Amino acid sequence: MKQRLLFLGPPGAGKGTQAERLCNAHGLMHLSTGDLLRAEVAAGSPLGQEAEAVMNRGELVSDELVLAIVEKRLSTQAGGWLLDGFPRNVIQATALEPLLAQLKQPIEAVVLLELDDAVLIARLLARGRADDNEAVIRNRLEIYREKTAPLIDHYRQQGLLTSVEAQGSVEEICSRIEKSLN
Ligand code: ADP
Repeated sequence: MKQRLLFLGPPGAGKGTQAERLCNAHGLMHLSTGDLLRAEVAAGSPLGQEAEAVMNRGELVSDELVLAIVEKRLSTQAGGWLLDGFPRNVIQATALEPLLAQLKQPIEAVVLLELDDAVLIARLLARGRADDNEAVIRNRLEIYREKTAPLIDHYRQQGLLTSVEAQGSVEEICSRIEKSLN
């Protein structure tokens, strides 16, 4: 299976759930910028204090901040990895390229998890995280469309994109993803 992966898809598509399964099954490092930022918030670190209000509005934290987090982890990782929630805009994707080139670790596949808006919103409301109320969810979906969705074409043009239907049971979706990575 491919070893250096990136997940794309709207909030609520199940990226975190699928990433965790896939990484456990195949020994990849799961690098979720959302999880790492939430850990900083929980620890009350200066970085977490800076990120918390932005995250609770559903907006993106600064590119410098997430880039620093990602760079530190990727440069100390010898094996495979899965980037989840990063890059989230063209600036982050552009900054990632020279870093991976320097590490001689190019992305092998980008998995796009696709799901209808109505299902996404229902899933997020059921989850009930601090940034999962209806107004903030709409803001996150809008930011996804505006900032993150352009990356779909970016990676399609590089021949890296594979689309997976993200509706069904966790197991079904997981095996669809694995098939797309062989
Ligand atoms: P979801 O996939 O449900 O949107 P995440 O856990 O990926 O949730 O992200 C939660 C929040 O963390 C985002 O709304 C944003 O504020 C912040 N965040 C996560 N990753 C990034 C990133 N790469 N760039 C900027 N902000 C980010």
